[in-house]
Order: sequence, then structure tokens, then C-alpha cells
Amino acid sequence: MFLSDLHMHTWLSLDGEEHVAALCEAAIRQGLGAIAITDHWDGFPAGRRDAGYAPHFMDSRDFWTLHGEALFPEICAAREAYQGRLQIVYGVELGQPQLNPEETRSFLSSHAFDFVLASQHLNGNCEDYYTLDYEKIDLDALMQECFALELQVVRSGIADALAHIDQPVRLMKHTGFDLRLSAYRDQIAELLREAVSHGVALELNTHGLRNWYHRISPPEWVLALYRDLGGEFVTIGSDAHHASDVGAGVREARELADRYGLRAVSWFENHEPILLP
Ligand SMILES: [Zn+2]
Ligand SMILES: [Zn+2]
Repeated sequence: MFLSDLHMHTWLSLDGEEHVAALCEAAIRQGLGAIAITDHWDGFPAGRRDAGYAPHFMDSRDFWTLHGEALFPEICAAREAYQGRLQIVYGVELGQPQLNPEETRSFLSSHAFDFVLASQHLNGNCEDYYTLDYEKIDLDALMQECFALELQVVRSGIADALAHIDQPVRLMKHTGFDLRLSAYRDQIAELLREAVSHGVALELNTHGLRNWYHRISPPEWVLALYRDLGGEFVTIGSDAHHASDVGAGVREARELADRYGLRAVSWFENHEPILLP
């Protein structure tokens, strides 16, 4: 079984610290055949900036401008060092690309990415889900808004895959939130239908296995629904921000994909999915 981890972060993400070589070493140890480097680049509406968080307090776009050039040589060096043993995909995790499509496309055109993973990291007021006080907000409204925003992400036409579709759940540990998500079935179905029609793969994100809710995102019934709506491709990603998390849960996710008749993309070349058994 060919195993891939198509979602991980290096030092070029404001919340990451690892060099490409360390991620590759971890991938080899975990028996992976491919990885994708997917550092954060988060979009905001024109004129708005991200205040950022410790330790950098920076907008991810500025961080890319300052340091982005240093990443690709690391990837090239790793490709040479691990040739024949590990496929290393130059990807990016684009946050809310729909907020400023022009700026997003201009960023993409100046980097030779093979894979665009797209996400929604902000609520409707452009506040990062990580900064909200979940004891004080209407969780139901938040989830509905999240799926509506993700619909825009898919419709932006920029994504190869849609990441962690239930992102706010990560932060809801103390809220007693109903994890079944079944209340949003219609909205999730609309999102998946749109993903299918735009050729956007659905990500199985294993971060939740290391988080309080102990499951892969999205839940299993969503995989069945995706398949029933014509979905075929999934990507599998650990969302590792540390080398020790590379490959975590990917075998489990791959088995889940197989069980629901979905095809796990091995890696991407120029945005085209490559599929190995
Ligand atoms: Zn993300
Ligand atoms: Zn991520």
C-alpha cells in the first residue's frame, strides 16, 4: 500500500519550525512514499492585514515575501537526497483564497506549486478560528457560516483539495458540541457536490486523532455521502507542524478511504493527481 502525507508545515509557516530534511527523515521512518510541503499563506480582503500570533506577530503573506525564496532550494536538495525513496511535492495551504482572488492568483503565479490545498481559517469577520471564545459564541451559527465560506473556497476554482472541512471543531473541546455534524448534512452535501463538480479532492485530515475528539476529519458518514454524490478522490494529510507528527494516522485514513471506495491521491504533479495502488 502506497502511503502519502500531503499536508505538513515547515519553518515557513508562522506556526511551524521544521526544515524539509527533518520532515523527509520522519516520512521515511514512517514508511511513506510521498509527502507534500504545504505552508500557510492566508488571504484577507484587500486592505486588511493579519495581526498574527506569537512568536512572529506577522501576516503570513509578508513572511512569504521575506523568506519564501529559501524554501524551494530546500525541497530541491531533499528531492536529490531522497531520490527514488520519497516523492516531495511543493505545495501550499491557501487560507480563504476567495477573499482576494487577484492577490491569490498573483502569489500562485510566482511559485511553481504542484499542489494547492485550500482551507477556511477565518470566520465571517476575518477572525481566525483559533482566536474565538467558544464559550461565548453561537456554535451552530459558526458551523453554518464555516460551511458557507468553504463553499466559496471551492468556487474560487483555485483548490486541488479542500482541507479539514470541520476546522472549528478543533477548538470546541469544552463546549459539549455535537460531533456528529449531522445537523449540517444538507450544507455539507452542497459543499461536496460543488467539490465534485470543480474537481476538488476532499482531504482526510488526521489532526483530530491527536486532538480531543480522536477521529479523522471529516467523520465517516461524510465519506459515504461524498462517494454517493460522485466523489472519487481524497487526499490524506497529518497537518504536522512537527516532524514527530509526520505520517500520523495516514494508514488509518488510507484504510478508511479504501473502505468507502474512495481513491487516495499518491501525490500531485502540476496539479494532476497521481494514483498508485
Ligand atoms: Zn489549516
Ligand atoms: Zn495545515
